[in-house]
Amino acid sequence: MSKYVGAHVSAAGGVFNAPLNAAKIGARAFALFTKNQRQWHAKDLDTQTIDAFKRNLDQSGILPAHVLPHDSYLINLGHPEEEKRNKSLDAFIDEVHRCELLGLEKLNFHPGSHLKKIDETLCLDRIAEAMNRTLDCTQGVSLVLENTAGQGSNLGWKFEHLAHIIDKVEDKSRVGVCIDTCHMFTAGYDIRTPSAYDISMAEFGTIVGFEYLQGMHLNDSKPDLGSHVDRHESIGKGKIGLEAFRLIMNDARMDNIPLILETIDETIWAQEITLLYSLQETT
Ligand SMILES: [Zn+2]
Ligand SMILES: [Zn+2]
Repeated sequence: MSKYVGAHVSAAGGVFNAPLNAAKIGARAFALFTKNQRQWHAKDLDTQTIDAFKRNLDQSGILPAHVLPHDSYLINLGHPEEEKRNKSLDAFIDEVHRCELLGLEKLNFHPGSHLKKIDETLCLDRIAEAMNRTLDCTQGVSLVLENTAGQGSNLGWKFEHLAHIIDKVEDKSRVGVCIDTCHMFTAGYDIRTPSAYDISMAEFGTIVGFEYLQGMHLNDSKPDLGSHVDRHESIGKGKIGLEAFRLIMNDARMDNIPLILETIDETIWAQEITLLYSLQETT
């Protein structure tokens, strides 16, 4: 099998609990927050915690390449005010260091928001600049840009935004993209039918390039196509529908990357994982 499906699991009580929570639902990949996502500061990871995480990850059989940590929601690398941008950059670098300590290879983040105070291009340039500064002082962790729904002043909803940032990142070997299906859809990229899926994915391939695809968030959507509202729904129960997920599960371009559920009802994640695997056509 070349598909690695999992969910964004809880790390309550310590990051070492995340691989255990993933294993419990039959996940072959997972996402986690390595610190409280709503706070700026967290205590450093101690040796005991790091060792327990690595031990539990090893026992789960999940590879570090299939773990996709997500950074704090407070971070905005494109913040129009320098002081707040620097605060975000410091917190972001700390998040990358936490990934390094845990032996993880990627950090997933939302590009940033202009807050209607600076223009899009300047904001995108600043995000790339923050990424370059982060890459200069860290090692071994790729920075994985997530496409957004384009809610409020969030950038990254157009594939062109992601391409603009990647173009300005100096070390292209350490930059990647995570496509969130709900965000993609509410940003205006239809994936509901085979023909719509082909067109939207081809657009991603041309503008960004599948060589940068390092993960996906598999979410159905409560809001409609192009609504720019970010509200996830359980797989097959939203406006996207099951067909798009069948197409993804049979698309070789999504092989060997973490495919992460962030759907709203965590009590059915195990069933959703089984459902997704059942969509794979045997060849
Ligand atoms: Zn997401
Ligand atoms: Zn979302």
